[in-house]
Amino acid sequence: MGDGMTPNYRICSRCVMDTSDPNITFNYHGECNHCTNYLQEIVVDSLDRENFLSTISTLKKLRTSYNCIVGVSGGLDSTFLLLHVVKDLGLRPLAVHVDNGWNTGLATRNINSLISACGVDLYTTVLDWSEFKLMQKALLLSGTPDLEAPTDLFINYSLRNAAYKFKVPCIISGTNPQTEAIMGSTWSYGQRDPIYLKNLYKKFNCASPLRLPFKSLGYSLYEQVANKINIVRPLRYIKYSRNMALKRSIDEAKWIVYPRKHGESFITRFYQDYFLPVRFGADKRRAHLSNLIMNKELSREDALSELSNSTLQSSIQADIEYFCTKLSISRSDFDEIMQSPKKLHTNYRTMKDLHLYKIGVLLKIALGTNNSLVRRLMRLISY
Ligand SMILES: [Zn+2]
Repeated sequence: MGDGMTPNYRICSRCVMDTSDPNITFNYHGECNHCTNYLQEIVVDSLDRENFLSTISTLKKLRTSYNCIVGVSGGLDSTFLLLHVVKDLGLRPLAVHVDNGWNTGLATRNINSLISACGVDLYTTVLDWSEFKLMQKALLLSGTPDLEAPTDLFINYSLRNAAYKFKVPCIISGTNPQTEAIMGSTWSYGQRDPIYLKNLYKKFNCASPLRLPFKSLGYSLYEQVANKINIVRPLRYIKYSRNMALKRSIDEAKWIVYPRKHGESFITRFYQDYFLPVRFGADKRRAHLSNLIMNKELSREDALSELSNSTLQSSIQADIEYFCTKLSISRSDFDEIMQSPKKLHTNYRTMKDLHLYKIGVLLKIALGTNNSLVRRLMRLISY
């Protein structure tokens, strides 16, 4: 955690990222690599914009019941996205929700209100809880930081599976550089690496997952070649901001603001407010607030003021008990895990150990990152 007490502690002069990210670098002016990269990420190429508009136009001409898939979580970004896709872009999406067992009642209420406001169908995928629980326990026992990685991977897979099932050619993603470009380099890993997650599951449970929607590399390759899904990210082409999303979601979807940040999912809140800061000294608010600073939604002073408040809530002991009960682990085992040696994904087998991945990296070096063959190969390996 950036407590300002360690001798080599340093914080960026432009955003609020600091040396709690061990890979952070600073330029001559004291500005970090994260916010410098942000300025490059938000630039929209005019050709990309033309391609995007052309894709939307093509989708609108389809005579199918649905012309795209949109994932919904009950959170702010996906709420705004569905409103934007239906009301601004004029598309006919199938909304897809992935239930990982950690949803709050208010999230379910917000999703239903959104679906009703947009007049679209909702398709829900429920992850097998007995195996998903073991997946999260494996991550906990592995000593690595990203407890949320399997949720992100399975959302991705579930959206693709829904696209194949309903013969929809396009997934609309809420990913956007404006509010997401900045993230600590070691806080997250695994969202796109089934090899890593499956390996952890096997290692710590002495069994293979049978009911979680993992895909083998061979099957992913087949899907990519035989039935390619187009991924479109419309938010990068508008002046997107958190404040704009908040206002529109409340006005048009009767969205109810969660009493606590990340209130749509217990695990997301527990992970970001307790597990990550207490176990790894990483405060994800730094990344979120830095994005808001760079998106001109918040002053750096206000961000620093917010960071001076602890992430821990008065209900933390009850939250820990709930977490342990859900995962069927004792409190003493949990306390022991919290004190065990910390690891990173690099301590385990990952996708990057595959020969195919190494070949892709070599081609990337030889042919350049913009080579279509290289981009395709790296994308194939990632899913
Ligand atoms: Zn910075």
